Formats: sequence, structure tokens, C-alpha cells
Amino acid sequence: MELFAVPDLPEIREGDDLAAMIDDRVDLRDDDVVCVASTVVSKAEGRTFDLDDFPPSPRAREVAARLAGITGEEKDPRFAQAVLEESTELVMEAPFLLTATRFGHVGVNAGIDRSNVPGGDLLLLPERPTESAERIRAGLPADRVVVTDTCGRPFRHGQRGVAIGWAGLPASRDWRGERDRDGRELGVTVQNVIDELASAANLVAGEGAGGTPVVVVRGWAFGDHAGSNEHFREVEGDFVRQALREWRFDG
Ligand code: GDP
Ligand code: MN
Ligand code: MN
Repeated sequence: MELFAVPDLPEIREGDDLAAMIDDRVDLRDDDVVCVASTVVSKAEGRTFDLDDFPPSPRAREVAARLAGITGEEKDPRFAQAVLEESTELVMEAPFLLTATRFGHVGVNAGIDRSNVPGGDLLLLPERPTESAERIRAGLPADRVVVTDTCGRPFRHGQRGVAIGWAGLPASRDWRGERDRDGRELGVTVQNVIDELASAANLVAGEGAGGTPVVVVRGWAFGDHAGSNEHFREVEGDFVRQALREWRFDG
């Protein structure tokens, strides 16, 4: 398996045809996985906004004021408004905003970025990243596309790449029913391969000014396994998320 970044991509602008830009720069094979940072998908889809596009509601002012009180830093109520508008649920409102997006992803600040955003203050996540992945895939000779974002996680320091949209492959390899080396049947292992691919791609893409938002994974096969397309947990089966609903920050 080999990973490499697509070279020489320019600053992406609204309306750009990402698939064509990628196809122009690499000779893709049909079994490549093309991993695209959500940042450039959002730019191409016109998801750049100014803070003034989000006049704050009383609720946003309240959320921002509480955060400011806790962190001792100024918090822009317009930013809080953008986060609220992008979210279906505020899972935690202090000491930071952890929210669920419409497409099921749970992340800090609804995944809104304030870095790598020329021409605006805010870059919102793509509205429906799996549809974005399908559109990009339709314009490429490669059969598989993953849209990624960099995201923090509980229990561990640091951020890493995760998949927020995918096309042409299942989200997971389902190992249940297969056997380990002792012949014991696996009962629970469902390997989320799109997150693993996103994480590997993010390692190559980097986080700063590298200019390498698209990474090709070559020579990786899904293999002879059952597939599962479940990725984001439903609230009903997500006990950590349910527990967070009961919890209140009092630090
Ligand atoms: P995110 O992880 O999707 O939020 O994206 P990042 O902001 O971390 O950027 C990932 C990579 O894409 C980094 O190497 C950035 O330098 C690069 N990048 C971001 N925007 C652009 C762009 O418009 N054009 C190019 N060529 N690279 C970009
Ligand atoms: Mn991001
Ligand atoms: Mn990143």
C-alpha cells in the first residue's frame, strides 16, 4: 500500500471541479482510494462565510457569554450562532461546543474551521459529505472516494483524520463470523476502514500550509470480508453521548 499527495493543486474556489483538477494531475487507477480534505470540498461548494452572516440569537449570546466566563477569552456570539445553525444537537455547551451535525458527525464547533480560509472568516463543513464524495467519484477514474476532516477525540490528546463522507466502498469491514489464529470465531470486530484510510491520508496531507488536501491510497484492497455502511452512531445506541446529555460542566 502506498500513499501520495496530489501535487500542484491551487487555492480552491467556489465552483471548482475538484474531480477534474485531481484527474488532470495524477494518473488514477480504478482501485485507488482518493481521500479529499473536507476543507477543499467546502471551498468548492461555497461553504465560506463571514461572521456577519450569522446575526446572533439570544441563545447564541448566552452560549458565548458562558464560554467566555469559563475560558476567560472573548467568544464571538456570531461564531456561536454559526455553530448552532450547523447543528442538530448541542451535546456539550461548556467548556467547549460539542455538537452533532445534520449528517450525523459529532465534533467540536460543528467542524467549522477558522484556518486555511482566505476570503472569509469561517469555513463550514460540506452539507452532505457523502453526496460530495459520490459527486467527486463520478468525475474520477478511481472507484473509491473518502472525504476527511481533522478532528479531536475523547480520552486521547491530539487530533487525527476521520472520514465524514464516503463513496464506492463500505464504511467498515465486518470480521464477525471470521476466525482468529486459534480458530475462535470473532464476535464483535467491525473495522472502520474509512476512518483508518482518512487517518493515513491526513498524515500525508498535514495541517498547515502544505497545500496537499488530496491524497491517493494505492494498493489497498478491502478484501474478502462482509461490509457494513454504518458509521455515525445513532443516539439510541450511543451511551457515551447519552451520558454527556446528563453531565454539566461546573469547573
Ligand atoms: P481539514 O483537515 O479538512 O480541516 O483541512 P486542513 O485545513 O487541515 O488542510 C489540509 C491540507 O490541505 C493542508 O495541507 C492544507 O495546506 C491544504 N489546503 C487547504 N486548503 C487548500 C486549498 O485551497 N488548496 C490547496 N492546494 N491546499 C489546501
Ligand atoms: Mn476541518
Ligand atoms: Mn486538517
